[in-house]
Amino acid sequence: MRIRLESVGNAIDMAENAALNMLGRGVEYRPRPWFWSDQFDTKLQIAGLNAGWDAVHVRPGTGPEQQSHWYYRGDKLIAVDAMNDSRAYMIGKRLIEAGKSPDPARASDPTTELKALLA
Ligand SMILES: Cc1cc2nc3c(=O)[nH]c(=O)nc-3n(C[C@H](O)[C@H](O)[C@H](O)COP(=O)(O)OP(=O)(O)OC[C@H]3O[C@@H](n4cnc5c(N)ncnc54)[C@H](O)[C@@H]3O)c2cc1C
Repeated sequence: MRIRLESVGNAIDMAENAALNMLGRGVEYRPRPWFWSDQFDTKLQIAGLNAGWDAVHVRPGTGPEQQSHWYYRGDKLIAVDAMNDSRAYMIGKRLIEAGKSPDPARASDPTTELKALLA
């Protein structure tokens, strides 16, 4: 898939990759998409790319303005959008980068400890 990743995170990743290759390391560029944006009072943090999802599971946060959306393609977790929920973002990012896909019912259940999803 060819896609333009217009984000600070990607600019940093690509710069680091280019610098390593200038030093002769021959490192292949492997994108690890993540994004953030502040929209009024909402801190939006996104891990992964949600293109091609076929199910979205919503996990309520502990506060009224807090929730996260977990995108799956089949059984595979492909992206997490977190609104005012940095922990959901961090755990989602770690899961996606490790290629792990927790059961969607557990991921969206607010009584499931986020950290337990990494096990
Ligand atoms: C309105 C807006 C909102 C955005 N919001 C977000 C966001 O919330 N989160 C996010 O992750 N990303 C966001 N982005 C995208 C992000 O800003 C860019 O993807 C990122 O800054 C790209 O970094 P860069 O270093 O490649 O380029 P730039 O940050 O554009 O840096 C290029 C630099 O090169 C300089 N330059 C250009 N030509 C020359 C020249 N000939 N000689 C010397 N210097 C030159 C420019 O002045 C500039 O300082 C936003 C972009 C815009 C426009």
